[in-house]
Amino acid sequence: MTGAITVVGSVNLDLVVRCDHLPLAGETVLGDGFAKHPGGKGANQALAARRLGAEVQLIACVGQDEEASQALSLLRADGVDLERCRAIAEAPTGVAMIAVAPDGDNQIVVASGANAHLGLDDLPARISGALIGQLETPVEVLAEAVARCDGLTCLNLAPAADLPDDVLRRADLCIVNEAEGAFYGLERLKGAGGLTALTLGARGAVLFKDGIEIARAAPPPVEAHDATGAGDTFVAALTLALLEGRSEQSALEFACAAGAVSTLKAGAQPALPERAAVEARLTR
Ligand code: ADP
Repeated sequence: MTGAITVVGSVNLDLVVRCDHLPLAGETVLGDGFAKHPGGKGANQALAARRLGAEVQLIACVGQDEEASQALSLLRADGVDLERCRAIAEAPTGVAMIAVAPDGDNQIVVASGANAHLGLDDLPARISGALIGQLETPVEVLAEAVARCDGLTCLNLAPAADLPDDVLRRADLCIVNEAEGAFYGLERLKGAGGLTALTLGARGAVLFKDGIEIARAAPPPVEAHDATGAGDTFVAALTLALLEGRSEQSALEFACAAGAVSTLKAGAQPALPERAAVEARLTR
């Protein structure tokens, strides 16, 4: 084990249908290739950190249903601590309905279900080690988790949503992709005081500190197949690398390589890389 990370976030079951084209409003499209995959940004990032070698606890809410056991199956198999993953009777497990076109374009509708019921009582009194959170669960819970954490705090500001400045200011690291960066305004993020990482897809990522670019990295060359989960892998890898004490440049290179390796296989969780696969790309 190389570090302890607590992830506060969502667990979903992804329901994926492939179709010839994405439906317009009011249109019904016949698709095929239905598949169910464990998903949710919280679950993906927890599993990514675990596969990269961290000791990981996930704080989340699921329903008391069959979807919960499917959604948690890979986390359980890889040894993510699910002690604080609460199963509630009031709401079903979160689901994401995903339509995928032949060119990889997609349409996603998420029914938050149990994720919206994550509450302050789900948090421990103190969170030691690093914390990773995203915005698919209530913001006030994330804000309180940041306040209770005595280590490195990382916020993946996705999906883009309103967030008070004081929460941004308390985070040690904020991570956004280009669309999220445009939503929040990079200047606002850079002004929050901590590190800001901006991911640029196949072009890699940039890291800012006190408003100034301090590191930039490109992913190693890969034959990208499916970029689902690349952002989640990047978030887990950057947090873990900083927690391990790597320099900011080296941590960013590690995170870019991890994101790139995750594009080699289809789906989010099945494609999350083991540490050795990432290190191998770095030493080439
Ligand atoms: P998100 O999935 O949140 O939109 P990005 O698409 O920016 O995030 O991807 C996160 C990281 O994953 C990038 O910084 C990069 O290192 C890696 N990555 C994503 N897409 C590719 C790709 N096509 N080829 C190589 N690396 C990629």
